[in-house]
Amino acid sequence: MTQATYVRTALLALADLTPFPGNAKRGDVRAILESLRRNGQYRALVTRELPGAPLVVLAGNHTAQALHAHGAGDCGHEACGVCGNDPAWTPAARCEVVVCDEDTARRINLVDNRAADLGSYDPDDLAELLSFLNEDYSGTGYQDADVERLLAPPPSLEELADTYRDPEDEGMWPVLRFTVPPEDRDGFYDLTAGCSNPGDDATRFRYLLDRARAAPDPQQPADPPHDHEQGSPRP
Ligand SMILES: [Zn+2]
Repeated sequence: MTQATYVRTALLALADLTPFPGNAKRGDVRAILESLRRNGQYRALVTRELPGAPLVVLAGNHTAQALHAHGAGDCGHEACGVCGNDPAWTPAARCEVVVCDEDTARRINLVDNRAADLGSYDPDDLAELLSFLNEDYSGTGYQDADVERLLAPPPSLEELADTYRDPEDEGMWPVLRFTVPPEDRDGFYDLTAGCSNPGDDATRFRYLLDRARAAPDPQQPADPPHDHEQGSPRP
């Protein structure tokens, strides 16, 4: 078992980097490019150095894609954090270069994607941070609509009542679901064919219950024995 060893940090031409083979994450390249233009490349890619081969991007594959999407030269965006509006700019990224074995390379690629997924947000802290931006959310990955949803007022009691129906409401009733042999299913439909709404199994089931309640109880004799029969001598 080995760990990654830091070698150096360098500005490397995109042409000298190769994406991590089999990277499973599908990132939002558009949002990353918007951030790069607005904020610049505030974090280095993590690349793995291999003897006699191009460096492999372990972390930051979508940042590399966004820089590629930017392309060479001045993109025309005002005060672009990628090209600096320099017509001679060639796609490049600041990279941390590490050496590690194949197994560690895979683990770094996996955890860099996964650790971000595993996090969550405190909505109050998030709303407060966003509130400092004077409603200009460029380069944050947030849109106006995201912030509106976050700041939406709590629902009224009437809205809550609409959403969560009365417990007596049919929507809260238990669901019966069980497996029977085909002949029992056929028997169920035969015995309940006369119900008021044959298209509804619940109506069929209630009809069957009514029939069962109306039928004589097989546990009780239909006619209780008369007193004079009790103790009468057997023939
Ligand atoms: Zn640019």
